[in-house]
Amino acid sequence: MQHLSIPAALVFLLASVSILGADDDMRAGAGMVAITPPAGVPLAGYYHKRGASGVHDELYSRAIVIEKNGVQSAIVSLDLISTRRGFVEKARELINDRTGIPSENVMISATHAHTGPVLADDLLFKSQGASDPAAAAFMKELPGKIAQSVCAAYKRLVEAEALAAIGNEGSITFNRRFHMRDGSVGWNPGKLNANIIKPAGPIDPEVPVVYFREPANKNPLAVYVNYSVHLDNVGGDLISADLPYTVTENLRKAVGDQLVTVYTSGACGDLNHVDVQWVEPQRGHENAARMGTILSAEVLRAWPRLEAVEGALQIKTRLVVLEIPKVSTEAFANAKEIVRSGNDRNRKNFMQLVNANKVLDVAEREGKPFQVEVQVITLGDYLAWVALPGEIFVELGLDLKSSSPFKQTIVAELANGSIGYVPTSRAYRQGAYEVVSARCVKGSGEKLVNAALDLLNACYSNATTD
Ligand SMILES: [Zn+2]
Repeated sequence: MQHLSIPAALVFLLASVSILGADDDMRAGAGMVAITPPAGVPLAGYYHKRGASGVHDELYSRAIVIEKNGVQSAIVSLDLISTRRGFVEKARELINDRTGIPSENVMISATHAHTGPVLADDLLFKSQGASDPAAAAFMKELPGKIAQSVCAAYKRLVEAEALAAIGNEGSITFNRRFHMRDGSVGWNPGKLNANIIKPAGPIDPEVPVVYFREPANKNPLAVYVNYSVHLDNVGGDLISADLPYTVTENLRKAVGDQLVTVYTSGACGDLNHVDVQWVEPQRGHENAARMGTILSAEVLRAWPRLEAVEGALQIKTRLVVLEIPKVSTEAFANAKEIVRSGNDRNRKNFMQLVNANKVLDVAEREGKPFQVEVQVITLGDYLAWVALPGEIFVELGLDLKSSSPFKQTIVAELANGSIGYVPTSRAYRQGAYEVVSARCVKGSGEKLVNAALDLLNACYSNATTD
């Protein structure tokens, strides 16, 4: 280098340029493929069957492929209620066959949209029409479409730089568990309920943003956006991606037509959009548009603070065993009867139905514990993505973020498979909906967080020793 022969100011300028400029050996590409099922398909999200009457906006599989010094990884988001281990494994296999990206380097998560198709291979969804041929046809094609989106991203790999920032938006997400005047912890107690004392848990207002672009011409490639709010903002029977639709549209307008936005949900098992102080119903496509507009504005507000992220790309995964609750013969018989005569229209029946679905689901495992995957992808010593397999309580996500050595840690829930709700141990003592529904035992959430932290710490020590 010739730095010694040029003036100090220029050296500083060159040094700054090299910090902010391209990371020479990094490539990235983005792709998206529509996965919208035909009208008539049963929709997911609630405990009763409802067929889609049409399409409000398309559902997508969206992918970013990152390559650094020969290491390749794919990050995929699906506009779906959840991920199932079966289709994740199948998609990873196809991706590996077609691109060579190792299966364990592929992270696939779902946004949790409640206005997408039911997933056919889950007992929980039987009451929602999972055995419908349209649901089965959707599932059959899904792995191929996921692989197509990753292949599209792979084919477009170009020299790229990654930039990251964290926005903060605390006005559209709320903890939906509340301490009530009768001493209980209530779930979604309803607007302006005079028996509410205070929320029973925190929120996570962070809006992590990771932007990929071409270094020379600044062409946009992809942006990864993550936020912790339950994606049940629409309702009704039109297919929709929910608020990511508006986020995606707004970012495309503001950043560039070719931008692929990959939206994922953070730990939000106990959060939703319902502001109990606000009397308005907060439903429908208008509500999703309002939420998406506010969120995309926050992403754009964070834009000037985007910082270049450099360093090695690392991926680590671990299988974690989670025990399941015991089911008595009597509980099993009761559950069967409740599901058979299923009625979720009043609250008492609803909780019984939730419990009965859980009991049947757990009984089908015949005592076999879950074996779930925890996966981390890290970039340098700055950025980390953590994939967790369920609807994770926000405190678990917050704990993970604050205990992680990485400056920016992103949690993607419902990733690489899902076991349903994963409450904190504290919530198990309090009960209410998510705990009634949870298929895993108390302590499972903390076990997942510890596994993720082990992996993060292992990546971090590699990141700082080169
Ligand atoms: Zn949900």
